[in-house]
Formats: sequence, C-alpha cells, structure tokens
Amino acid sequence: MNTAAWPFDNSYAALPEHFYTRQAPTPVAAPGPVRVNRALATTLGLDPDWLASPAGTRVLAGNEVPPGAAPLAAVYAGHQFGSYNPQLGDGRAILLGEVIDRAGERFDIQLKGAGRTPYSRGGDGRAPLGPVLREYVVSEAMATLGVPTSRALAAVTTGETVYRDRPLPGAVLTRVARSHIRIGTFEFFAARRDTDALRALADHVIARHYPALRDAANPPLALLQGAVERQAALVSQWQLLGFIHGVMNTDNMLLSGETIDYGPCAFMDAFHPDTVFSSIDHGGRYAYRNQPAIAHWNLAVLAQSLLPLLHDDPEEAVKLAQGAVDTFPDHFLAAHQRGLNRKLGLTEAREGDRELAEELFELMAGERVDFTLFFRRLADFAAPDSAAATVEDLFPMPARFLPWMQRWQARCGQESTGAGERQAAMYRANPAFIPRNHLVEEAIAAAVDNGDFTPFHALVERLAAPFDYDPADRRLALPPTPEQMVHQTFCG
Ligand code: AMP
Ligand code: MG
Ligand code: MG
Repeated sequence: MNTAAWPFDNSYAALPEHFYTRQAPTPVAAPGPVRVNRALATTLGLDPDWLASPAGTRVLAGNEVPPGAAPLAAVYAGHQFGSYNPQLGDGRAILLGEVIDRAGERFDIQLKGAGRTPYSRGGDGRAPLGPVLREYVVSEAMATLGVPTSRALAAVTTGETVYRDRPLPGAVLTRVARSHIRIGTFEFFAARRDTDALRALADHVIARHYPALRDAANPPLALLQGAVERQAALVSQWQLLGFIHGVMNTDNMLLSGETIDYGPCAFMDAFHPDTVFSSIDHGGRYAYRNQPAIAHWNLAVLAQSLLPLLHDDPEEAVKLAQGAVDTFPDHFLAAHQRGLNRKLGLTEAREGDRELAEELFELMAGERVDFTLFFRRLADFAAPDSAAATVEDLFPMPARFLPWMQRWQARCGQESTGAGERQAAMYRANPAFIPRNHLVEEAIAAAVDNGDFTPFHALVERLAAPFDYDPADRRLALPPTPEQMVHQTFCG
C-alpha cells in the first residue's frame, strides 16, 4: 500500500454545482503536528504513521491536496437562535472528499479552519488552537461513550496567529462524519423553491444514510420519519450524559443523526435542568432542559422544507409532515426511559419506572449533585460488597437520597439479573470520566499559553476508557472546585 494514498470516493461533489463551491484550502505558514487519532485513521484505511509525518501534516494543514480529493465548501442556510439566515455555508471548513472505510462505510474528511471560502462572510476562515483541542477531546469522548458524533482524525497547528479577543495560535482540525448534510442544507433549497435540488438532496441522503428507505411507499416522508427517530435517540443520549450542545441551530443538526459543532458545548457538573454554558445563549434557548423541545422544533423546520416532496396536494403534504413530526415526543421519551433504565441497572421495563426517574431528577436538581458521579456512585451501591474500585471518596451520597434509593433497591429486586451482573452493567452505562470543562480548559491553557500539550494528550487518553475507574486518575474524575468552575463557553 502506498502509505500516502487516501481511499477517496466523492459523491457530494457529483451533486449539482449549485450545492457547493469548489475551493482548495489556503496554505498556512508552518504546519505542525499535534495529534493523530491512530485508531480512527486505521479504520479509515489511512496510514497513521504517514499522517503524523511532515508530509501528512502538510495535507492535514491544507498545504497540499491529496490525490483523489475534490475540495469544496458546501452551501446551506439555517435558523440560528430561531431566526432564519438564508446564507450560511462552510465558512471555514473544506470538505476534502469522502473515503470508504474498511467496513465499506462512507465518511467525509473535512478540514476545519482551512481558510476563507465564498461563505465566510466577515470571518477569517480560521480556527484558534483552543477550540480545535476542545472539539478533539469532546467529540472523541462522545464517540467512546457510544454517542453518534463527528470524529476528530487529527489536529495540527498552523504557525499563524488568529485574532479573537486576543491573538491566539491557529490550528486545523480534521473532522470525520458520515456526512455534513444539515437541516439547513434542505432549508437553503426550500427557501429558493428549488424542488429539483430538494429531490436530489433527499435522494442523496436516503442512499447514504437511510438506504433501507429507498423502497418505502413515500421515501421523502420515510426520510423525515427516520430523521425524527434518529434525533430523538441522539438527544436522549445527550440528556443521559448531561451533555449540553449549546448551539442547536438547524445548520448544526445533521441528517445522519450524528452530533456536530462542538463550539460552546459542555458536560454539566452539578445537575440543574436550567444549565446553560454558551456565552451567546442569553435567553437559555439551548439550556439542558430545552434540548428535546429544540430538536423537535428543528425537525418541524426540516418537515417544512420537505413539504414539496411529500405530496402534490399542499394540504396533504402538511398533514403527512405533521404526523411524522408529532411522533418525536414518544420516540424521545421511549429512548430516554430505556437509557435511564440502563443507567439504573434495570433491564426490564415496568410500570412506575417513569415516576421513579422523575423523582430522581427532582432530587438531583434540589441537591445539585454531580451528574456523572451520582450515577457512578449509585452503581457502587448495586453490589456493595464487590471488590471494584468505588468513587465513594469522590462523592458522598447525600442522605436525602436514601428513601429514593430504597425504592430503587426494591425495584432492582424485581429484576431477574443478580446484583453483580447489575453492577457490571451499571459501570458500563455510567462513565467515571467525562470531559469536564475545567479539565478541557486546563489542557487548552497549557497548550495555548505554554506550548505544553501533555495535559491534552493525557485527557484524550484517559477519556478513551471512560468506564474503567482507576483511583490513580482520581483527579480527572473529580468535579471542579469553586475556583476551577467554568461558567461560560465560547464558539471559537
Ligand atoms: P456555527 O455557529 O459554528 O455553527 O457557525 C455558523 C456559521 O459561521 C457557519 O457558516 C460557519 O462556517 C461560519 N463561521 C464560523 N466561524 C467562522 C470563521 N472564523 N470564519 C468564517 N466563517 C465562520
Ligand atoms: Mg456550525
Ligand atoms: Mg461552531
């Protein structure tokens, strides 16, 4: 194998020309390696040693375009904080092309921070190092936690300065996703009443992400229904991990059902449903508790965009769209309850499970317990005499939980699984390590202020095994002290 060969097979570039602008990355002054995701590279059929070499680093920085690439910036629109913006698009991300991985699956390879494009508006097309490291850490943690997400293949520095509120080192993230097709991509063509484009896009998305629906009676309607179900499942996973996306604009919601845009996201430490981190989310639109409702709203926007494809009679089209969108709450609640039962070690659905969960969240909010450690500590109680390392010294269970825990234990008693098995399952469902904000910020500060990437690498490596608690890494499992607490996140 030629170690520099990329297994490109570009399908988006074969769509009509008005879907994108062909655009090469803008070379940078001095590409420098930061990290290559070796495991991901290997599954994608790429040579990790070559990617980490000077030649690979040049490609990852956008200084050279590999053979077979068809670089482009995609156009899209979107609702940002509820307001329609008719003209967005890849303003600082360039799609190099798509590769087919070892399992035959197709993935976009995108360079984020690769220079200006026709969609950059006032932006510089660049990314500061801090947000690139944040996206690397958090998106990889999400993947390991089992959440559908875009991935980080590599991070490189550019040797150039990016100006935000202060001068910062620049970087490029190589992002991998099943595609970057957004609700906002459909909105772009719907707003122009370009039904041919909508049809071509829907066909492309079905072939790529929902191949089983090709033979459905009404494929665009089946696509809408499929998107509803994937978003419901996705957001339920966010809720169950205490993940706050922070910028659930319709241009940040992928049809593939993967999480994208790790700008102002954060995992919650102390639980409260009103939690918001993003510095630009003044009204709390994208607060933790609102995420399911916002996903539902975004899907209504998708449905609206798809109307011309659903039925020739506009009134019938609206009825079909409404019917599909209306199924969101049931799908969300079912996925959420299934996931919660997993976290609680319950394998069978029983009447009363929902009430047990609701009482728990009320207590958790009242006590503002650490979301992650609460569930991890609960797992310790599932088999109190086991030899596993507990988080007892990290998280004292508040006395106010005791009556609830008695009900939970009684409910566990109705299960056919034994205590040891239940605990093992709970340890697999409840991470001990998450990308806590203060740790991400600490890793970024070391890299940006001192050129020290050791904490970044250590965090990435620890988060690669989030369910295996090791007291030696206790510091990385602890919630922030009041001084370490991060109150705001920024888009980068
Ligand atoms: P986001 O809020 O990250 O979803 O970005 C919204 C839009 O702004 C997208 O079209 C981005 O491509 C664009 N954008 C964000 N940052 C920059 C930048 N530094 N330069 C150019 N475009 C940008
Ligand atoms: Mg975005
Ligand atoms: Mg962003």
